[in-house]
Amino acid sequence: MLDVKMGSEFMNQIETYEELRDKLKEYLSEDELDVVGKAYMFAFEKHFGKKRLTGDNYIIHPLNVAYILSDIKADYQTICAALMHDVLEEDKTIIDQLSNKFGDEIARLVEGVTKINKLSFSGDSESIKANHRKILVGLSEDVRVIIIKLADRLHNMRTLWALPLDRQRAKAKETLEVLTPIAHRLGMSSIKSELEDLSLRYYKPDAYFSIVEKLNQTKVEREDLVDEMIEQVSIILNENGIKHTIKGRAKAIYSIYNKLNKGKKFSDIYDLLALRVYVQNESECYQVLGLIHSKYKPLPKRFKDYIAMPKPNMYQSLHTTVFGPGGNLFEIQIRTYEMDVIAENGIASHWSYKENGRVNLQSAMEQKLQFFKSLMDLKDANEEDVSKGNEEVFKDSIYVFTPKGDVVEMPLGSTPIDFAYKVHTEVGDKMIGAIVNDNIVPLDYKLKDNDIVKINTNKNSTPSKEWINIAKTAQAKSRIKAFFSKIDKKDYIKLGQENLNKELRKRKESITDFLTNENIIRIIEEFKYDSLEDIYYNIGSNKVPINSIINFILNDNITKEELILKKTQNKDIVLPNTKNDIIVSGVDEIKVNIASCCKPVPGDKLVGYITKGNGISAHRVTCPNMMNNDERTIDISWNDCVTKKYPTNILVHTLENKNVLLDIIAKSSNTEVTIQSTNFVNTNDNFLYEVVVLVKDTTELTKFINEIKTIPNVIDVERSMK
Ligand code: MN
Repeated sequence: MLDVKMGSEFMNQIETYEELRDKLKEYLSEDELDVVGKAYMFAFEKHFGKKRLTGDNYIIHPLNVAYILSDIKADYQTICAALMHDVLEEDKTIIDQLSNKFGDEIARLVEGVTKINKLSFSGDSESIKANHRKILVGLSEDVRVIIIKLADRLHNMRTLWALPLDRQRAKAKETLEVLTPIAHRLGMSSIKSELEDLSLRYYKPDAYFSIVEKLNQTKVEREDLVDEMIEQVSIILNENGIKHTIKGRAKAIYSIYNKLNKGKKFSDIYDLLALRVYVQNESECYQVLGLIHSKYKPLPKRFKDYIAMPKPNMYQSLHTTVFGPGGNLFEIQIRTYEMDVIAENGIASHWSYKENGRVNLQSAMEQKLQFFKSLMDLKDANEEDVSKGNEEVFKDSIYVFTPKGDVVEMPLGSTPIDFAYKVHTEVGDKMIGAIVNDNIVPLDYKLKDNDIVKINTNKNSTPSKEWINIAKTAQAKSRIKAFFSKIDKKDYIKLGQENLNKELRKRKESITDFLTNENIIRIIEEFKYDSLEDIYYNIGSNKVPINSIINFILNDNITKEELILKKTQNKDIVLPNTKNDIIVSGVDEIKVNIASCCKPVPGDKLVGYITKGNGISAHRVTCPNMMNNDERTIDISWNDCVTKKYPTNILVHTLENKNVLLDIIAKSSNTEVTIQSTNFVNTNDNFLYEVVVLVKDTTELTKFINEIKTIPNVIDVERSMK
C-alpha cells in the first residue's frame, strides 16, 4: 500500500495489441472495437520497420499511449487518434486517407496532436512559460488533443532513460514547466503526479534519489503505523454500519521535494503518514469525519471541506489531520468512489460518468477550456489587465449557471457585473440589475457556486464608473473602461476646443481668422489628423502642445526641429552617435520615433521625416506616406550595432480559416522571431491574419515570411503599410 514510486519506466508497458483490446472490451462496443482495430493496423503499417531508441518497435509507443488512455476510459475516437498520433510524422500527405478511413473527427484529433508536437517550448521567463501553456491549451480546439498529448508525454517520460542525458534534462524541464501545470488545471492528478515524479528523477536526480532513500529507510516503520490506524478506523466504521474501503497513500516524491524546498524538515512532513477512506455517498463522508474526530483529536486549522467547496479543477474530498496511535500525525482524506475518479482523472472523468447524468461535468470543463481561450481575446486590454487575466487562471474559481443551465466559470469573488460582461459586452453595457436564484441582488453581490444568474437589461441604460471598482475580473474592468474611453473622447474634444479658443484670445488672435477652412486643412495635413474634431481631441488630451498648432499657422516661431533642418543643410559631418539605434546624419541629439504606419526594422532602408514638435519619425523608403514629402525629409540609417528587436506587422492571407494561427506560431518557434500579438480579420474575399512580430532584422523577417508561405492554405504574406 505504502510503497514508494520507484520510477515507473519499466512498469505498465504492454507489448501486444491484444492486451489493449482486453482492456477496451470492458467499456467499448464491438463496433467501436472494430474501428480501434483498424486504427492499430493503420499505425502498424505506417511505422513498420521503425525502431525507438529503447530498441522497441515504434508501434509500442502509440500502443502504450492508447493503453494509458484506456485507464481513464477514453472514448474510441481518442483511442484511435492515440494509436495513430505519430503517423503524420511519417508521411504528412496521408491526412486525407485518415479522414476517408476514420472520419473527420479522428483525423482532426491526429492533426491536432501533430501540430502541438511541432511546437518547441523553450524559454525561461515565467511569462513565456505561461504563454506556452496558454498557446497549447488555447489553440487546441478539442480538449481531447491535450489529453492525448499528456498521455504521449507520459509514455515518453516512462521511456526517457533511452535518451542522451542532455535531452533527458530538457524534456523533464519542459514537462514540469509546461505540461504538468496543464494536467493540474484539467484535474488529471494521476497523470500529473506521475509526470512530476518522473521529471524530478531526470531533472534533479540527486534530490530525487535522496528522498527515495529516506522513504525506504522508514518504510517498514511507517507501514506498520498506517496499518494499525487503518485497522482502528475500520473497526469504528464497521460498528456504525458504514461500508468503506481504506487505503494507505503513497506520497508523491515531487510533493515531498517541494515541501523540503520550502524549508520543511523531512520528519515534519506529516502527510508521510497518510490514508484515504472511500465511502458510497456524500453524507457518509461527513459521518466518517465526525466519527474520526470524536476518537482522534484533530490538528486545528488542518481541516478542509473540498466537498462543499470543490477546487477549481473539480476536486472533492474532506481533508483532516489527526493525532493517531502513539501521538503520530495522520493525514486523512475522505471521499466517495465517484469523487475519487474525478480527483484522479479530472476532465477525463466525464468518460467514466457520462451515462450517470453527469453531463454538467463535461460542460463545466468545456467552459474551463473556454476560459483559457478567452485569455487570448484580451488583446484590447492593456498590459496590466492582461497580466491580471493570467493570474485569474491560477486563482480559485466558482461555477455559476445561466438561466438556460449553461455553466460559466468565474474567478472567486466575481459579481453579477463580471458575469454580465463575461456573457457579452452588450449585456454588461446595458445591465440594470441582476437576479440570483430568483432573488434581486445588489450588483456587488459575490456570486457563489451553483448560483443561477439572470441579468436584466435595458437598451437605454449605460454602465456606471463605480462598476470598475466593484467588478472583479480584468475582462469586465477593461470593457467598462473601454465604454468610458469612448465617452471621454467627447470630453477631450470639448476641452481641446475651449483651450484653443482661450489660447488664441490670450494672444489676441481672431478665432474665425485662425480656423479658416484652408488653415484647418493645413493642420490636418501637417499633423496627420482626420478632422477638426481630431485636432481638438489631440489638443484636449495633451497629445500635441497647443502652441505647435498655433505656431504652425501663425509661423512666428522657429521650432527646434527647424533649427535642425537648417543645421543639416550645412552638411556638417558629425560622427554617428553610437548610442542610438538610428543615426541621423548631421545631428546627434534628436528624438527619433519609429513610424507606426510602416514599422521599419533593422535592414530596411530608411527615410526620416522632420515632424513639428515631435522629433524625427523613421519610415521605410517605400512607405506610401512618404511619397510626396520631400522638403522635410532627412537622411537617416540604422546603426550597425542595433541589438534590440523591433516590431513590425505582417498580413497573412489564407484560403480558409483552418487554424492557420497554430501553424504560424509553430513556424515562429523554429526562428528567432517573437510573435507579439495576432489579430484575425475576416474580409469579404478571404481570411486574413494580422501578426505583429518582433524581429532582429529583415533577414530574419524574410526567412520567417518564407516559412509562413510554405503553410498549406496560405495564399500570400506581406508586410503591412497603413
Ligand atoms: Mn508520440
